[in-house]
Formats: sequence, C-alpha cells, structure tokens
Amino acid sequence: MKTIHTKDGRIVEIQVNKKLFGRNSEIAAQNIALLDKHRVRAVDVLGSIGSGKTSIIQQIVKHLKDKMAIAAITGDLTTTIDADRIQKYGAEVLQINTDRGCHLDANMVRNSLEQLDLAALDFILIENVGNLICPASYPVGAHQRMVVVSTTEGPYMIVKHPHIFRDSAVAVINKIDMADAMGVDTEQLKKDALTIKPSIRVVRTCATTGDGVPELIEALGM
Ligand code: MG
Repeated sequence: MKTIHTKDGRIVEIQVNKKLFGRNSEIAAQNIALLDKHRVRAVDVLGSIGSGKTSIIQQIVKHLKDKMAIAAITGDLTTTIDADRIQKYGAEVLQINTDRGCHLDANMVRNSLEQLDLAALDFILIENVGNLICPASYPVGAHQRMVVVSTTEGPYMIVKHPHIFRDSAVAVINKIDMADAMGVDTEQLKKDALTIKPSIRVVRTCATTGDGVPELIEALGM
C-alpha cells in the first residue's frame, strides 16, 4: 500500500483507501449481477464471535433445505469450525480463511462464487468474519445484510455499532432465553435498532431451540 508522509510527520493513506473501497464496491456490484443472472439470493451474515451467526445459519438451512438448494460461504481467520458445523445440516459450504483479515471482501466472495454451481442454487448465506466493525466498510455483493447480536453481549452492542445496523435489512436479537440472566431488555435492543434504522426488521430468536426462526425466514423474504 502506498503511504504518504506529510511535512508535519503524519502518515496519510486516505486516497489509496478510497480506491480500495471503490474497487471493492465495483466487484460487489458484479457479484450481485452474477447472482441475479442465476436467480440466486445471497445474505451477508454479520455479528461478533459467539453471537450465534453459525447457529442461526444452521437453523435457516434446517428449515429451508427441503424447499431450496442452499450453500454457505464461511469466513474465519484460521479454523473450519463453522464450515464443518453447517455442512452437517445439509448445505454445501465453502471456507474462506482470512488469516489476519478481519472481514471478507467482494473479491474473496467472487472467488467462492466461481467455485459454486450457481445454476443449481437458490440461496447463499455468507458468514462474515466475527466482528461488527471491519465488515461495515466492505460490501461483499449480497442482496441483504443480516446482523446478529446476542443478549449475552450486553445492552450496548447495537448503539455502539450504528454503521452495521444502518447497512442491514434484518437485525436478529439472539439468545433471548438468556436475557433475564444477563439483565438485558430485548425491547430496548429492538428500540435501539429502530432508532438507528426505522425500516430494519428486528427478530428475536433462540438459535438453540429454533424459537423465532420462522419469523426470521419471513423477514428475509425467503
Ligand atoms: Mg460462526
């Protein structure tokens, strides 16, 4: 990456980053066009490690696999834990290991799409790397973003991550069975999401029991 050292000793990388973001957005748009050509719908699933992204994806696959052909693309630094978990539920899974990278980007997803038989698929779930900060700036080329927070992460996950909620069509409040033990008010979490983005669909789930999953599938329009 090109770095500019200013006279007062600052290091400026803004212009390069702008180009990088611009190129990523171009590839993201190409990914959506490629998916549309094959009538495949894709959802970018965001959330911190432990929020329940993989468990939610497992539940979605479980509910929909008899109705449609589903694949998953899972981003993770070094492990294949999530890919192995989702595969057991009957979806084809591609793993992207980002090593030190804290987000997926459109080019990584493009490479995965090229390995899938898109003509035979209906739905792709993309599990992004587990955090709510880096992925915000990198659209991967999905039709929707779905963000997962859990009650065990405390009361401030939504108000502290406005960018990702503004970019998402659906917000999942997961682990509702733990809310009382954590002293977290899920109604307040819902209000926080709607304050950031009035049009966001908020669904409360318990991924271990499957509570709320039919409502989530409906919110995703699937
Ligand atoms: Mg996961």
